[in-house]
Amino acid sequence: MKKLFYLLAIFVFASCSSANKETQIIILSTNDMHAMIDNYAKVASYVDKVRAENKNVLLLSGGDMFSGNPIVDKHEDRGYPMIEIMNKVGYDYGVLGNHEFDYGQDFLRRRIEQAKFPLLCANMKVSEQALIKQPEPYVIFNLDGIEICILATIQVENSNGKLIPSTHSDKVKNIDFYQPVETALQYKYLRQKCDLFIALSHDGIDEDVILAKEMPELDIIIGGHSHTRVDGMIENGVLISQTECHLKYIGKTVIRLKGKKIVDKKFELIDVSTLQAENEEVKALIDKYYAETTMNEVAGKAGSDFTGKENIGGLMTDAITKMLNLDIAFQNSGGIRIDKIAKGDISLLLLYTLDPFENDVIQFEMSYDEIYSLLKNSYRKGSRHADLKTSGISYSIKVKNDEIVDIEIRDTNGNLLDKNKKYRTGMNSYIATDYEFEHKDAGKSLNIKSVETLIEYIKQQKEVYPKPDRTKIEEITD
Ligand SMILES: [Zn+2]
Repeated sequence: MKKLFYLLAIFVFASCSSANKETQIIILSTNDMHAMIDNYAKVASYVDKVRAENKNVLLLSGGDMFSGNPIVDKHEDRGYPMIEIMNKVGYDYGVLGNHEFDYGQDFLRRRIEQAKFPLLCANMKVSEQALIKQPEPYVIFNLDGIEICILATIQVENSNGKLIPSTHSDKVKNIDFYQPVETALQYKYLRQKCDLFIALSHDGIDEDVILAKEMPELDIIIGGHSHTRVDGMIENGVLISQTECHLKYIGKTVIRLKGKKIVDKKFELIDVSTLQAENEEVKALIDKYYAETTMNEVAGKAGSDFTGKENIGGLMTDAITKMLNLDIAFQNSGGIRIDKIAKGDISLLLLYTLDPFENDVIQFEMSYDEIYSLLKNSYRKGSRHADLKTSGISYSIKVKNDEIVDIEIRDTNGNLLDKNKKYRTGMNSYIATDYEFEHKDAGKSLNIKSVETLIEYIKQQKEVYPKPDRTKIEEITD
């Protein structure tokens, strides 16, 4: 009897002490780095410091590691420098972002193999013909006695009736994608298996808010994709965060638990520009990659500042019409990856940053009606800007109650575009395959990349200037 009492006492004591044990878990996160490696020496040093001072630290990637810096994108083994650096910084887990597919599946497969951190994604099904393996949808692991679950999802959009992430549709062949929120809801049961339930989402802030509303089982959502600065908002009890992009910030989520129960969760954005210390090893690696590049060559000069996508899109499309002898060219805003070209030298590095996607220019012979059907893509509900930038034409979309009423298209002389003529048009292969529009001509590749056309154009012009705006949205009122 005495012995039984003794055992019972030990049991009660042990369970009380674990029930009261206080645990702190720190989750550091970055999203949408887009190959912008420059800040990684500081980020690494900060991560080192937090790890030295705390025992339970995780570092997560919210996706879109690639596409945005030619040092990484144009490396002969595309994307490798980014993975080498991220391995050194010591990421624990990541979610696949839409731009992870930009280099093609063969490069992505090798990058996934080299990454020392698993890349997760629940809302995709990889077929046997695909070149990458099926990623794990989630992971569960124990950290200091706490069961942690990370469930990961990627953004999707409708492309010609199929759901795919925002990348060239050729790059995601043999992979099926599903709505991220609907998929996440199928994993509600994981709540029973863990103490801390994290969604690692590359879905964008709007979807994250919907996810939080529909899935209060989650404790936190570490977001990405929309490049939003989300300084720890609480929605339906779920803590949502996002660190904008390009390593401007590091996300720091601090979770405190008593026993297995979360008693506090807080989020803080660490502004990387305020950090001084650098990790020497990572700094040396970044310097090495910059020293190796041949991208410092100057193509020509900007005679004055190009500001905004209208100015820059005008330059890109003029390059296509002038260098390839076409009547009209189109450029989608999403393919314009910088907001400014400053007056002065324009380097190849800048141009590959502006247009990193390696898309060929495709030529179509198009009628007026076909051009009109393409320009309909330019207006998206609630949008106040025209997506497609142009050369050879200017246009105004007339909108009433968020619906297109008419599109007025004018030639370079300001006259209405001739409805009976055929036009030789050019656009990048992303628009050609991923935008819905009428075209009898199947289109042919001109076997030159849009960025190469731009480089040649600036070299030939020597000095380039911004042109007046060519697109307009006009609100029609009664
Ligand atoms: Zn994204």
